[in-house]
Amino acid sequence: MAKNYYDILGVSKTASADEIKSAYRNLAKKYHPDINKTEGAAEKFKEINEAYEVLSDPTKKSNYDNYGSAQGPNPNDFFGGANGSGGFGGGFGFGGLDDLFNMFSGGFGKSRANMAVDGQDINIKMNLTFEEAVFGCTKEVNVSKIETCSKCNGTGAKNGTKYTTCPECNGAGTVSYTENTILGRVVRTGVCKTCNGTGKKIIEKCEYCNGDGYNKVNKTVSINVPAGIDNDQVLTKPGGGNAGVRGGRNGDLHIYVSVKDHKMFVRDGYDLNLKVYVPFYTLLLGGEVEIPLTKGTTTIKIPELTQSNTIFKLKGKGIKNLNSNNYGNINVTIVGEAPKSLNKETKQALEKVKQNFENNDFSRYKNYVKDLKDIK
Ligand SMILES: [Zn+2]
Ligand SMILES: [Zn+2]
Repeated sequence: MAKNYYDILGVSKTASADEIKSAYRNLAKKYHPDINKTEGAAEKFKEINEAYEVLSDPTKKSNYDNYGSAQGPNPNDFFGGANGSGGFGGGFGFGGLDDLFNMFSGGFGKSRANMAVDGQDINIKMNLTFEEAVFGCTKEVNVSKIETCSKCNGTGAKNGTKYTTCPECNGAGTVSYTENTILGRVVRTGVCKTCNGTGKKIIEKCEYCNGDGYNKVNKTVSINVPAGIDNDQVLTKPGGGNAGVRGGRNGDLHIYVSVKDHKMFVRDGYDLNLKVYVPFYTLLLGGEVEIPLTKGTTTIKIPELTQSNTIFKLKGKGIKNLNSNNYGNINVTIVGEAPKSLNKETKQALEKVKQNFENNDFSRYKNYVKDLKDIK
């Protein structure tokens, strides 16, 4: 049996922290080896200190109160406890050497049943406008998740204290039983049904979680969206998922990003592509064209005699890279647009002008005509 720390300090189990402290001070003074030279005083002093170390620490005290050990439940307590309580096998109804072994396996099994269970990850989708993705933003999302009950610290017991060791499994969380099979007697270990493997019996349920130890909550979570994020990329908030059980780690929150298309740009990585139709005469005579930027606009000069489909690269005017301060480009493809109608006067004028081009070298067209002849 573990030492009774309350008896050692001469206080009741319900003693306040102050009462424990004052009892310890009085005894420590009385048995301090410098003062008390009688036989056994040093031993007693050690004992007093040990008791105070446990009872003055809320965690250790709670473990001691519930499990009879400052360390809380462990497989060895299980065995010792079963012996100490006299009823070897307690609620198991075992006897004999075989079962002594079973008790051990049950004891080891306990750590498995009581094992921390990690919370699950949560995946949600987040819609962003083009601008939000390009410049980054802070966005609030609604997450439905499981959170450890803060009122009972996840124990499910009122104030986190109204529980005792499960009498069915003696805190193990597992129960061992033997089965007679054709291969002989087989020992099996299963999760304790009385406590669902927690090893704890709740005396009074926590009213905030109805004894579950967790609550399903709707949380508004603020997400920092970095500039440059693109469609189908995932933002992860570590620990933002469902809460772990029995000290297990929390799951992560994964946010799948969906970015709305820009009205004009077509995004290609960190580059933005844009096709601009200009009147055909702009290609011949040159001119200026207003081009959108991620913010505002700019004007580019089209030199005279520009070929259709010429790409004008606006370096560094694209999107900021996610992991650096580099920027992509805006690639503007200039395409000539022919008129859809011509009045008589214009048509006659063009026919006249056409002759002026006859000595021009339309090299690409001439090559095409040549190639066509070759394959005929
Ligand atoms: Zn149990
Ligand atoms: Zn609770």
